Amino acid sequence: MGILEVKGVNKRFGGLQALGDVNLSVQENTVHAIIGPNGAGKSTLLNCLVGKLIPDTGSVMFDGQSVLGRKPHEINQMGISRVFQTPEIFSDLTVMENVLIPCFAKRDGAFRMHAYESVASEKEVIERAEAMLEDVNMLDKRHMHSASMSRGDKRRLEMAMCLVQEPKLLLLDEPTAGMARADTNNTIDLLKEINEKRDITMAIIEHDMHVVFSLAERITVLAQGTPLVEDTPENIKGHPKVQEAYLGQ
Ligand code: ADP
Ligand code: MG
Repeated sequence: MGILEVKGVNKRFGGLQALGDVNLSVQENTVHAIIGPNGAGKSTLLNCLVGKLIPDTGSVMFDGQSVLGRKPHEINQMGISRVFQTPEIFSDLTVMENVLIPCFAKRDGAFRMHAYESVASEKEVIERAEAMLEDVNMLDKRHMHSASMSRGDKRRLEMAMCLVQEPKLLLLDEPTAGMARADTNNTIDLLKEINEKRDITMAIIEHDMHVVFSLAERITVLAQGTPLVEDTPENIKGHPKVQEAYLGQ
């Protein structure tokens, strides 16, 4: 059984069937890519995993528990974190301040140390934040204002903000969209480093096949809201159904 099990998920928007009977099983500590042409339903599927959308039918189980009917912040507390297409950071704050925010996220109507309830002191939280920045090679930039950073550095900072919450599953929706090749390659290296250093599962939606084949251990191909194939990158390359889905775009 995977850490994430999606079974028979359907989602309609009026007359449009965005997801039709989607099954997906993501194994713990793997990098699983979800690919498919524009409009295939990738973002809709991801939104169903984080509580932004509720499937019409089907089940979504994470770590043995259903996510359906839970609010996005509750799903986040279960251990699912999401990285947005455009890095979601606070540009008026420094790098360090940005990483401290998710450590003190609002919860149950009171400010508490999110994910760090067992950590005794503020000093320890700061040390954890610094260790996280070191992991993403941003420690030397901790006093910088984030507005002036490159897109690649913003992505690194956003990853630190996610990882400091110690998620079990990281969801990434086109993390390299709009990036220059150098920043894309930096992001690939960063995700590889994170995957090696930490016990973390990643589900990545990605258009760029270079990124997909550099990172993924399993690939699910979605087309018109339905999974076409799920296999290893070797078997996906040159798969006739995949070629057809992309050529039919
Ligand atoms: P992808 O991320 O694979 O490009 P999406 O999941 O964004 O695809 O979209 C799948 C289909 O659902 C598309 O036809 C899109 O236009 C439609 N769609 C997505 N979100 C909505 C929405 N909120 N309301 C109506 N239609 C939507
Ligand atoms: Mg999308």
